Amino acid sequence: MSIPRLVLATKNQGKHAEMSDIVLGMGLAEEIVTGLDWADVDETGTTLEENALLKGRAVTEATGLPALADDTGLSVKALQGQPGVHSARYAGPTASYADNYTKLLGELEGAEDRSARFVTVVALVLPDGSFVTAEGTVEGEIALEPRGEGGFGYDPVFMVGGRTMSQMGVEEKNRISHRKRALAALGEALGL
Ligand code: IMP
Repeated sequence: MSIPRLVLATKNQGKHAEMSDIVLGMGLAEEIVTGLDWADVDETGTTLEENALLKGRAVTEATGLPALADDTGLSVKALQGQPGVHSARYAGPTASYADNYTKLLGELEGAEDRSARFVTVVALVLPDGSFVTAEGTVEGEIALEPRGEGGFGYDPVFMVGGRTMSQMGVEEKNRISHRKRALAALGEALGL
């Protein structure tokens, strides 16, 4: 199944760039339609899947096109899985990326176990209301301090194999990331 024209249900440019490369690379879509707009979607779900579906459904309804949404959470073992589904607003409703990871580094001060995982749920929603969801995870560790210039969100403090995701280019991050794994699982579910 290759979708002729697909909208990526995100206004996050970092996420959009990563998803475009992966989706086109795996042949899930022939074209990613850009330049469309929609009202911001309140992420009121209690799970990543609910939030991915909220975003996917809203964007399909607003654009009339198939929409692919993702919702991501960072689960930190020493914090019993927090910030999880609350990752975007960890340091408050208007928190910047730096506010969020600075709060996280503070919470983990002195922690011996810094293991963490990113979890992404992707939802492909079609204009007839049908949908498919899939999940991907990557295991890593929270660094002692931010490192690197690339990526977005918690990338400066999320390490895999001794380097943060901010120290990897998009191509390298896309080989190993939670998002890549969720999209690969979606592709399998669709028989790609
Ligand atoms: P959401 O999926 O856009 O709701 O993201 C939840 C939070 O996780 C936000 O703070 C994002 O910036 C962050 N986030 C999402 N994906 C990534 C990623 O690939 N790397 C680092 N942070 C991410």
